[in-house]
Amino acid sequence: MPKFLCVQCGTQYAESVTEPLKCLVCEDERQYVRWDGQAWTTLAVMQNDGFEVVPYEEEPGLWGLELNRSFGIGQRALLVPGDKGNILWDCIPYINDRAIQIVEDLGGLEAIAISHPHYYSTMVEWADAFNVPIYLHASDADWIMRPSDKITLWEGETFSITPDLELIHLGGHFDGASVLLWKQGAEGRGSLLSGDVIQVNRDRHYLSFMYSYPNHIPLSCNTVKRIVTKLETYNFDRIHGAWRERFIWENAKERLKASAKRYKKYLEA
Ligand SMILES: [Zn+2]
Ligand SMILES: [Zn+2]
Repeated sequence: MPKFLCVQCGTQYAESVTEPLKCLVCEDERQYVRWDGQAWTTLAVMQNDGFEVVPYEEEPGLWGLELNRSFGIGQRALLVPGDKGNILWDCIPYINDRAIQIVEDLGGLEAIAISHPHYYSTMVEWADAFNVPIYLHASDADWIMRPSDKITLWEGETFSITPDLELIHLGGHFDGASVLLWKQGAEGRGSLLSGDVIQVNRDRHYLSFMYSYPNHIPLSCNTVKRIVTKLETYNFDRIHGAWRERFIWENAKERLKASAKRYKKYLEA
């Protein structure tokens, strides 16, 4: 039986004889339904249609994976060095044999961790291909559209994947929204991988904090204050956002505080 993927957001659903009636991720007010109507595809169709995964180096030792063509919400994933292989941080909606070989050549996979449901995409395909666990925050369990025994739900405020890699729960964009601290990143000063739980702006000097990016629904000032206060206790100097080269290369902690201050100024003006 096929496992359909939503063309608009890239979420893969559990196997079904017919296409799902609707995509719950797109129907949510943080996303939107495709303008021409809900549409579905499958990995098999995409594999016959020329899709490929392309690797690139985001910072020394940190590799990005993206698709050669626009699909879904343009998800990219990062390969972060772990103890026995890489951690796949966030996920992309596509996989084929060549993609598996690319990741093997870069050191293989040890685990998958995902910031929030917009990146769940084809996580179970990736977990099955490498026989590795997927770590998701338990608060977002209702958004798992393709269940699997590879999924481990973690609860609470932090979860250490390895001594060097710590998941930090922030909430806001989603109840379970989390970021990954790579302590050895940025030449040992620490890199924070934020997905779009905290979004790096186009100027690469400021960050923003939104419940919905496509529909421009901001988070409250109290939520932003809670997020920034929580991150103050961690060491990091660089932030990698959700898209290629959307990073704050240095002084990221100061930029985070300045961004929260500016955000408050405009929201409470
Ligand atoms: Zn969708
Ligand atoms: Zn998102």
